[in-house]
Amino acid sequence: MKNIDTLCVQAGYTPKNGEPRQIPIVQSTTFKYNTSEDMGKLFDLEASGYFYTRLQNPTNDYVAAKIAALEGGTAAMLTSSGQAANFFALFNICECGSHIVCSSSIYGGTFNLIAVTMAKMGIKTTFISPDATEEELDAAFNENTRAVFGETIANPALTVLDIEKFAKAAHKHGVPLIVDNTFPTPVNCRPIEWGADIVTHSTTKYMDGHGAAVGGCIVDSGKFDWMAHKEKFPGLCTPDESYHGIVYAEKFGKEGAFITKCTAQLMRDFGSIQSPQNAFILNLGLESLHVRMPKHVENGQAVAEFLSKHPMIESVSYPGLPTDKYYNLAKKYLPNGGCGVVSFTIKGGKANAEKFMKALKLAAIETHVADARTCCLNPASSTHRQLTEEQLIEAGIPSGLVRMSCGIENKEDLIEDLKQALERL
Ligand SMILES: *Cc1c(COP(=O)(O)O)cnc(C)c1O
Repeated sequence: MKNIDTLCVQAGYTPKNGEPRQIPIVQSTTFKYNTSEDMGKLFDLEASGYFYTRLQNPTNDYVAAKIAALEGGTAAMLTSSGQAANFFALFNICECGSHIVCSSSIYGGTFNLIAVTMAKMGIKTTFISPDATEEELDAAFNENTRAVFGETIANPALTVLDIEKFAKAAHKHGVPLIVDNTFPTPVNCRPIEWGADIVTHSTTKYMDGHGAAVGGCIVDSGKFDWMAHKEKFPGLCTPDESYHGIVYAEKFGKEGAFITKCTAQLMRDFGSIQSPQNAFILNLGLESLHVRMPKHVENGQAVAEFLSKHPMIESVSYPGLPTDKYYNLAKKYLPNGGCGVVSFTIKGGKANAEKFMKALKLAAIETHVADARTCCLNPASSTHRQLTEEQLIEAGIPSGLVRMSCGIENKEDLIEDLKQALERL
């Protein structure tokens, strides 16, 4: 079972004789044992099994196993949100005094997490342009660097990460590359094949794909050799006194250490578990991910091409356009296309952007992206409304910028909708 289509439908859960065909929702906080000794073994990580849903639940594990198979990883875990996934992935190997090298082109929520909240924990970050040269990247590291972070396709800037270049720099400095692969999903890009060590997701977006359940996921490639860089990763390579002196990298190897530690320590202590109900909903989305992604790409491409020729449009960002700055990187990393999100700037600034969006009949105004229904957002009048005109320009967000997430409707209908709204300006 190798092809991504088959994995989307069937990976992660194989019922035995007489068992339910669909993944069972194990709606139970706790699990019963015959003896305290049996349960003690679970607490010591001597045996695998379930004891409390804050740490692990079978429904979540089926779905995590599917996503691990899709990404080509060795282990995975679900989290309550994409924010929790990125925080856990970083905090699993960082502590007070650590340093991160991070692409400056990332989701605003992740930027706040790293630049503000994690900074309060004593974790410093150097933000670097995704277009940085190898030399510039090299210069961003210091002796406390513990991870490199970037997004395959950045939300909302739509820059494409040169994964091989970032992986090379990370590995040269003995640290893993963590890639947020939310926008392309493993259907369109598998960062592990290009050298990424850890992959994260906001499953809230295309993976669920129906705007129904907030969630996140962390996948380990199983390739990073923690023990070869023992001094950098004491949490994985020295005894964990809160788990009877277990050394994760020794006991669970390269394949399992990262996710086991992340579950045993961070999920235990922070408790950002995904509910089994949401995991079930997420799995319904995953079953059709390989059917939906090509349609999102087809619609995104058609909308981007239409807009790029329209006289009321100043500029369009979409890596599938030959004129786009990231076209060549997209051809390499995203040969089947990236996603359905298109960013464009309307002539006449915020006022025209607002007028245009109000006139749309199919595309709804939402802060969400990446679901079956087309939606749009003007950052200047919503998510970034606290910024001044100058600050907006500095952030690379002109006031007339609209981020449109193309759903899986008919592309002619979407273009018709855009056309009539643009005619009103
Ligand atoms: C939405 C998003 C997140 C945050 O995910 P939530 O599920 O909303 O917490 C992280 N990364 C990217 C690229 C996103 O688009």
